Amino acid sequence: MKKRYAIQATIVTTIAVAASALTIAQSQLEITSFSRNGKLSWKDTGGTGTNRAVQWSPDGTNHWYSWKDADANLTGLGPEGTVDVPMFYRVVSPDPDYQATEHYTYYEKLPLFDPLTPLDTNEMRITFMGSMIPLPVRRAQAEMSIFVEVGWQDDPSDSFYHGQPVDQFVFDMGAGVSANYAAAKVGYRLMDKVFINHLHADHMSDLVHTYCFGPASDRKSPLYVWGSGPTGIESPTNSNIYYDDGVRAFCSHLREALRWHTESFSFQPTAYEDYEAPTQASWGLPHEPLPVGEDANNDSYAMVPIELDWRQVGGVAYSNALTSVTITHFPVIHARKGSMGYKLSWQTPGGDELNMIYTSDTKPETNCVEQARNAGKGVDVFIHEMVVPPEVWAYKNMGLNAPPSEDDPDYPEFQQTVKAMETVQNSSHTTQGAFGYILKQIEPKPKLTVATHFPTADDTVASALQSVKAHCPEVEMGRDLIWSFDLMVLRVFPDRIEQCRAAVSDYCFTPPVKLSGKTLPPKYNDGKGGGDPFYQIDLSSEIPATNEFGEINYRTDGY
Ligand SMILES: [Zn+2]
Ligand SMILES: [Zn+2]
Repeated sequence: MKKRYAIQATIVTTIAVAASALTIAQSQLEITSFSRNGKLSWKDTGGTGTNRAVQWSPDGTNHWYSWKDADANLTGLGPEGTVDVPMFYRVVSPDPDYQATEHYTYYEKLPLFDPLTPLDTNEMRITFMGSMIPLPVRRAQAEMSIFVEVGWQDDPSDSFYHGQPVDQFVFDMGAGVSANYAAAKVGYRLMDKVFINHLHADHMSDLVHTYCFGPASDRKSPLYVWGSGPTGIESPTNSNIYYDDGVRAFCSHLREALRWHTESFSFQPTAYEDYEAPTQASWGLPHEPLPVGEDANNDSYAMVPIELDWRQVGGVAYSNALTSVTITHFPVIHARKGSMGYKLSWQTPGGDELNMIYTSDTKPETNCVEQARNAGKGVDVFIHEMVVPPEVWAYKNMGLNAPPSEDDPDYPEFQQTVKAMETVQNSSHTTQGAFGYILKQIEPKPKLTVATHFPTADDTVASALQSVKAHCPEVEMGRDLIWSFDLMVLRVFPDRIEQCRAAVSDYCFTPPVKLSGKTLPPKYNDGKGGGDPFYQIDLSSEIPATNEFGEINYRTDGY
């Protein structure tokens, strides 16, 4: 306990600079100064004390206090005064200067970028295909997915893509992200290596779509899915029940559940003649890559789980000497054992190392800090989740624009919702202030830090930025820290990071199919090597194209 308070005492000195920003909240609480020795001076000029614009906690572990609580709970606080208090603060309702806008102006001002632009030889490109916490799937933000590509191989005969990245990876595949992959013209053949951080639906829902339709497009090879092995949790204690909740069991059940789909589409080719399946050695895997069920290891309906021991810190998930990419994993703390963060490192042809960390969902923990320090080398991009304060989550989810006052009929429901949100947040997520605290521990700082899994808009970002700055006053939005948004593109080079937004069509068709070899005859074929789409169909209630007199009912070409 003693030690923790000592740490907090150092934090308070960093709040001084940031506190001056709060003086703009005119009609609300005015913090007039917050000096480096931890002396807080304030004025509640209106004297109503009901405004929750700013809340504080004396030590970061106790309840958060609104200004109205001052007289009752904190000796020495009142409408006006000065006090010694180590204090964490957060902004929980809209400041008059940043009303909810339903815009993310920062993102809207980024330069447009054609996602078909070939990568530079020394470029790592990170595209956010989904960026939102559930619930819901927002129309503006799908749930989590990050697409990472490295390097480039030119192909002059490829008139659409002009080549392809040297290697590429999908991190998480939450609900709704398929629309963004299609809009960004990412073919299914590039979505064959999926790294799941944990098996919450907002991180794996769209695997169904990707798995099912990949073979109908240009993924004519298996789908590889990395994730945690069984958690080993007795569920619950003394039940002697241990579920197989690892990624192998997940893939195996999913594969069987999707049988109707895969059979029905198997009048189309699902494998290449000359596919060379990766081996444990060629991909540096922890075990041989074997498909679940009975699918052949060259078939595109084969699902190949790669189970990782979630307890390992820095265990290798993938290491490909041909492409110079290594992906390691480390445990994070989220909802149930087995959640993992990933670190991707790429040696560029120019001899530089580019790397990114994606922690996904986690409460504050030390592994990500250690990984981001990267033995003193730091990382290029550090992507970490962040939640809004429970009060904001609660009032937004209740359809309100601000927390209700205590005499409002909605207040009891609001309080209950806040409690529920607090439980979720404290067990499994990173609060705005904690995000700042984590970032403060990382030296050298990441070249760019990205908050994700966050309901992004001008008001939520402005509030969160203040909380982060309470710990890291030197951090600048845009230069050091950004909030992710769907179709945000980060072009990471050895000497700089460019931020842009992908120029896409909301009315796109599927990206052009690009096969890379001769395919084998499909499972349901006409005996001559061609597919037979009628093979599995019952035609007994068919309306034929012509009637019994040979007259046309409708033309078979549809016109
Ligand atoms: Zn989760
Ligand atoms: Zn999540």
